[in-house]
Amino acid sequence: MTYVLLILGVLLSFAFVYFMRPTNNGDLKLLLAFSGAFLLSLTIFELFPSVYAISDSKTIGVYIMLGMLLQVFLEFFSKGAEHGHMHLDVEKANFPWLLFVSLSIHSLLEGFPIKTHDHLIYGILIHKIPIAMVLGIFLLNSKIKIIHAVLFMVLFSLMTPFGNYMAVHFDFATKYYAPITALVIGVFLHISTIILFESSEGHKFNLRKLVVIILGIIIAYSL
Ligand SMILES: [Zn+2]
Ligand SMILES: [Zn+2]
Repeated sequence: MTYVLLILGVLLSFAFVYFMRPTNNGDLKLLLAFSGAFLLSLTIFELFPSVYAISDSKTIGVYIMLGMLLQVFLEFFSKGAEHGHMHLDVEKANFPWLLFVSLSIHSLLEGFPIKTHDHLIYGILIHKIPIAMVLGIFLLNSKIKIIHAVLFMVLFSLMTPFGNYMAVHFDFATKYYAPITALVIGVFLHISTIILFESSEGHKFNLRKLVVIILGIIIAYSL
């Protein structure tokens, strides 16, 4: 079920972009802001306590910072796709390997903690929908062949389920639960805070955005 939800979430978002060709960026930004607040809250309410409860806090802190640095590094190649925008060249027609590999590492990692935190699936799912839409818009506007765009999205949709599969079936995932989860916490802290900061244009007061952020926090708290 986890796998189906994650795969469908990505593929349906891509299909939506393909058929509807949405032009209203405002709604996408609101969805992004909600997903950022929701993911950040789940990280703080659920992931943080689970790792600090079982390990030395300084070691965990180091892994969290490493996760943040890893995400900074990945974004040199993905140009920010994980947090909802793209600065890649749309004129290129080649399969975007660097983008694909960096997104895959990110997505694979975030599949791991779903095994022990059921609610996280909703956070990741809601985070993937705007990301898949942004990716879809980029791929469809680029000169990349449609078959490659579809292949990209299908493989991308499989990465988080595959990470979850590894967490369930491989012993190392259980043995290194705390460091792996701490890495993912770092990744989530980085992307979710960037989503929240970048979606406020010129720091103008935006009531709708504030409301969805507060909603994201309340829903994560009440899960
Ligand atoms: Zn950015
Ligand atoms: Zn992600």
